[in-house]
Amino acid sequence: MQKVVTLKDMCVITRTAPMAAEVHGGRAKCLQRLVRLDFPVPKTVALSFDAVRRIAAGAPPDAAAILREFPTLPLLSVRPSSLNPDWGGPGAMLNIGMNAAKHEELCATIGEELATRLYMSFVQSYAIHVARLDADEFDASAHPSIDNLNAMLSVYEAEMDAPFPQEAETQLAEVLRSMARAWDGTSARLLRQAKGAPADAGLGLVVQEMALGIGPGESGYGVIQFIDAGTGQRRVTGRYKAQAISGEHLRDQDGTLYLTRDPRGASLEERCPDLFAQLVAFGETCRQRLREEMEVKFVVHDCEIMVLDAIRVQRSSRAAVRVAVDLAEDGIIPREEAIMRVEPDALSELLHRQVDASTERDVITKGIAASPGAAAGRLVFSAYEAQASAARNEPCVLVRRETTPEDIRGMHAAEAVVTVRGGITSHAAVIGRGLGLPCVVGADDLVIDERKRQFKGPRGRIFTEGDIVTVDGTTGQILNGQVRMVEAALDEAFQTLLSWADALRDIGIRANADTPADAQSARNFMAQGIGLCRTEHMFFESDRVNLMHEMIFSDTPEGRAAVLDRLLPLQRADFTEVFRIMEGLPVCIRLFDPPLHEFLPSGKPGMRDLADVLDLPLSQVVERIEQLEEYNPMLGMRGVRLGVTVPEIYEMQARAIFEATIAASQTGAPVVPEIMIPLVSAMREVELVQGRIDAVAAAVRAETGADFDYRLGVMVETPRAALRAADIAQHAAFLSFGTNDLTQMTYGLSRDDAGRFMSDYVRLGVYEEDPFHRLDLDGVGELLRIGAERGRQGRPDVTLAICGEHGGDRSAIDFCRTNGFDYVSCSPFRVPVARLSAAQLFL
Ligand code: PEP
Ligand code: MG
Repeated sequence: MQKVVTLKDMCVITRTAPMAAEVHGGRAKCLQRLVRLDFPVPKTVALSFDAVRRIAAGAPPDAAAILREFPTLPLLSVRPSSLNPDWGGPGAMLNIGMNAAKHEELCATIGEELATRLYMSFVQSYAIHVARLDADEFDASAHPSIDNLNAMLSVYEAEMDAPFPQEAETQLAEVLRSMARAWDGTSARLLRQAKGAPADAGLGLVVQEMALGIGPGESGYGVIQFIDAGTGQRRVTGRYKAQAISGEHLRDQDGTLYLTRDPRGASLEERCPDLFAQLVAFGETCRQRLREEMEVKFVVHDCEIMVLDAIRVQRSSRAAVRVAVDLAEDGIIPREEAIMRVEPDALSELLHRQVDASTERDVITKGIAASPGAAAGRLVFSAYEAQASAARNEPCVLVRRETTPEDIRGMHAAEAVVTVRGGITSHAAVIGRGLGLPCVVGADDLVIDERKRQFKGPRGRIFTEGDIVTVDGTTGQILNGQVRMVEAALDEAFQTLLSWADALRDIGIRANADTPADAQSARNFMAQGIGLCRTEHMFFESDRVNLMHEMIFSDTPEGRAAVLDRLLPLQRADFTEVFRIMEGLPVCIRLFDPPLHEFLPSGKPGMRDLADVLDLPLSQVVERIEQLEEYNPMLGMRGVRLGVTVPEIYEMQARAIFEATIAASQTGAPVVPEIMIPLVSAMREVELVQGRIDAVAAAVRAETGADFDYRLGVMVETPRAALRAADIAQHAAFLSFGTNDLTQMTYGLSRDDAGRFMSDYVRLGVYEEDPFHRLDLDGVGELLRIGAERGRQGRPDVTLAICGEHGGDRSAIDFCRTNGFDYVSCSPFRVPVARLSAAQLFL
């Protein structure tokens, strides 16, 4: 038998009672603060987490002792008090103590109808939430009459084989027990853990004397808040209803008043200006003294206000930023605290359009949330159709088994992208994030039938080209139809908060940006430069991909050089534009990286098109494509291996970079380009490439008579490069760790295929998280530490950075700060999140 939970385990809330949010929960602590502020709060008893835990385990609560704290035996309410209100909890129970005698007494004071309404609403919630009877049997909308009340009591008795409990003591004990147990239920547990609650999160309970908003003079019940919960702007909102039972849900059109003057109807401000002024004063006191925007529940009884409760206003991410900045600008909290109050990931919600939280979702399926934001459009199944759709000004959603460079133009044309295969670093995911395009990958419940232009989802649901779907890249859901959205908002408060963060942080934040459009996004989000420009993405434009094909099909170095001569001005123009946009900020350009094979079509129709364009027999095209095929292209002829064996490509790129440097420096800020060599595993590779690039620089200087500087660096993305970093740094001004490939090669885990089993691996606890998503600090991290340390041994002033997809992740930023890295580089849309995370980590 468990020991009784006595009043010793509880606490009457007074100014001096020993109370803490960690012991009694946030609501109880907040009520004590209100008492200390001299707010008129009804008498309240708080039960600690420990007391509630014991009640849930079977210890009987000493309800009689609690009731003795309320000598006049009023009606009572019980409300949950967890550490964080966002973690949910059981709903409030009101009107405890209601019974036949109380009903009779209230009939005499407030009238039969209201008294009966109170009793019926208590019987109904007790039956459903405490006795766990079927809600259908207890109709909340039944008219309050003695007959209906008796019918309800009879149903209760028939179902429970016992009359409705009449003793307040029994009622209270049962309510406490049921609320304590509800917190322990599996679904409540899972729900709050999904919101970040620890497994052992506790629940406190507060038992409060109810003040009825019913009586003589102005009496009523209301809820007031002092900001707009959507935007964070300061304005009074809320509802008030005269002659209302406190705690009732206040809806439009049932006699509620607006609080402030409102063209839509009467307001409390007009009817009772003094009461309204008092409420506004309460709000201001909360703001100044509790340093928060609070929602206040109040009861008016004969023109006297009682404050039942105040909780932090639940708010959108946009409002959270505005409130933090406003409080700091008004000197109520320091700037550092404003920075700490905003959850960095919430910022990414502000950068993209989102599905409206209140909208109904008809979920077709769920994949991996690869790029945040939401967009809707007609389904298309090929890049060609996506472009055709965009040409007709019809927004479309591109669905592919997986994307390849051939799909780039289609991705540009689409509003959102879905792939059946792939993980967080797959092609679609990387491009989607770079473009700020909502993207869901690894939606492996979908079966695509390209011939019929449709996909089949779970439960046999079929969707055909032209059907409208919404892609929610923030949650990974694909939704049927066009759902309501809220627009992105980069308002002044957002910019202010980030400028405060920038003044504090101690690590650089650059962006991964491949094209002039990306570079512009990087500037808009105030990146301190470009940390990775994947130049191959510049070859996917339609005018270039054909030239790439010609180059790949050239048999001789001379033939290749002739095609590269035609690519040169295009690359030069891109680089000049990127340098111009970045206005002297560092730009790190990675030389060509992917296997050439990626540029070639895989199916017969594409090969036939290619034969047409190149004016070659189909057989020759097929043969060349077969020659270039590799068993394991990610570990094959790519990166510096191409640079060493087909040097013309890197030479053309180096020339384009140098000529663009001269051009951009003539009209704008001086440019010192950074040139980065990918997939290095041996020092000799760097030496060879360096020799050729130096020669190109000398030739350009001689031809133009212009001088320029440049920095040559190495991308460390093979384990060997990390181990040999001391050697390699002899030839590298900077080392930038490509954690995508480094993760792939450290684990021996394919970036493109791991999605198939990743969720099983995470579920079974083999990996704590997808290592392509969250940097593996133990294994890959050790290689990074070794690489950084040895790199510094080889060259003490070497610049250190990471530029994989992990770059914007909080734990990776923390790791980089701790290990003395100079900057992280991430997709432009992640830059604001990284700026805020870095400042929080500094604090
Ligand atoms: C990397 O490998 O971490 C990287 C940034 O390069 P990519 O993703 O282009 O292979
Ligand atoms: Mg790489």
